[in-house]
Amino acid sequence: MHEIFLEIARDPIGYLQSWAKGSTRELALTFSGLFPLELLDAMGFHGVWLPPVLRNRYNRADTMLQVFMCSRARSFVDVVAGSELPVAAIGAVTDCDAKDVIPGVLHAGGCETPVVTLRMPIRVDTPAAVDFAVNGVRHWVAEAEHAFNRRLDPDLLAGACALRLRTRQRLSEMFQKLGTEVDPVFAYSAAVSAQVMEPEAFLHALDAAPWPKPDHKRRMIPVLMSGSELPNIKIIEDLAGLGALIVLDDTETGTRAASRPVQHPGCQDAETPPPPDLDGLLEAIGAGIVYKKHGPTKVSPAGNRIQGIVSAALDRGVQAAVLGLFKFCDPHAFEAPALIEQLKMAGIHSIVVETDKETGLLARERTRLQTLLEIVE
Ligand code: SF4
Repeated sequence: MHEIFLEIARDPIGYLQSWAKGSTRELALTFSGLFPLELLDAMGFHGVWLPPVLRNRYNRADTMLQVFMCSRARSFVDVVAGSELPVAAIGAVTDCDAKDVIPGVLHAGGCETPVVTLRMPIRVDTPAAVDFAVNGVRHWVAEAEHAFNRRLDPDLLAGACALRLRTRQRLSEMFQKLGTEVDPVFAYSAAVSAQVMEPEAFLHALDAAPWPKPDHKRRMIPVLMSGSELPNIKIIEDLAGLGALIVLDDTETGTRAASRPVQHPGCQDAETPPPPDLDGLLEAIGAGIVYKKHGPTKVSPAGNRIQGIVSAALDRGVQAAVLGLFKFCDPHAFEAPALIEQLKMAGIHSIVVETDKETGLLARERTRLQTLLEIVE
């Protein structure tokens, strides 16, 4: 039953194409872990946070975008502009520069799929941030109902909030056991699958069998995986093959998106969804976007992010860190020197793995990682 996760992580587009052939629900996409998929579910869509799809060429995207944009953004544009999936609606969200331009690029390129942008604060460390975010969610719903020509159903929203929260809670549990009780390839495959599958199907598959454990018979080096989104599952497989055991995650694919709360009575129990209190749910969704763990695209409490990563790394016995950077990703590139420095001061050496179009680690990165693992062993 768990094999489906690895299949989806390797080919999310193929999975969604098959899903679309057998479903009467329409597909709505987003490109960020900030975006609350429950809003799309509550309009009768199947909400999907499309994972990056790395390719040798992004022909369609590169005619519409400037070439110095990260492959995360380019892959989304490529898939949508090429009509590779039957996408009925897109939920955009303001975040980094690359994500901010995607709606305009799609529009300028003639994409007819309606796109509605959820406007979020940049600072998430001020009391005004929650008000800003809650208003952003309310405005998004009003605009989306008009643009998508659908009503947001309060009953569907209540059920979707509970199911999506349950999904994130299970992923958080899994990432807390990363490398100790849960095999990292399984954990990241499951996290990517949670972005793509319907939540009921995902939860059913997740609990169908015990979670695979890491191979403790091999001597492996405990590492931190940090970065934006996981570029592809092959990187995790390559790290494991080289003897790196991920015991701590700091990615949007993993712990960050899974940390988004929706603090509303009843949301804790997916079996008994909360009453359809539309205003209260929208408020809880908006506040949750502020309260989640953020990456460097948001201004969060000064210094807390890097200090938090370093102290978690020390707690988990991390001996080396892998910083996964998409080429042309400014937010993570700007943060990397300080993160590397602070980790080094704590006795943890880092390697930067830059991803552009290639899946998996390049030969030179394999060599550098091997050297680092031999040094710290
Ligand atoms: S955070 Fe970085 S990798 Fe992610 S979309 Fe923005 S620029 Fe691209």
